[in-house]
Amino acid sequence: MVINLKDIRLKGKTEEEFSFSYEPEKNLCDIPGVELVSPVKIDGVVSLIGRTAAFVEMTVAFTLKGDCTFCLRETTREYFIDSEQEFSADNEYGYLLQRDSIDLTKLVVDEITLNMPINFTCESGCKTPPKMEF
Ligand SMILES: [Zn+2]
Repeated sequence: MVINLKDIRLKGKTEEEFSFSYEPEKNLCDIPGVELVSPVKIDGVVSLIGRTAAFVEMTVAFTLKGDCTFCLRETTREYFIDSEQEFSADNEYGYLLQRDSIDLTKLVVDEITLNMPINFTCESGCKTPPKMEF
């Protein structure tokens, strides 16, 4: 998910829309019995801030599929995460702009990890207690 900022500049633009499909690592979802469905969809806009920084606004859409934590029925849910982040050349601990490019992969992985639900439930918010198995 690399965006070449030079290409945008060469077109005489200061911002550009982007769209990616990303095949995530399966272990990004650590909820038992639940899987992260491929691909994750990323749509957004990148804005140039001079030559050494860029600002990204994007929506990361991912789908989880698996057993509801409470009632154990199979369910599928979509999650939409809005993310805003600056990339810069001197951002030692953050998201780097290097060789006039930015790579969204780390940011996307971080957003999915941070927004992974603790409980995976049915669409309406399941309140059914887990089935007891004897
Ligand atoms: Zn449920």
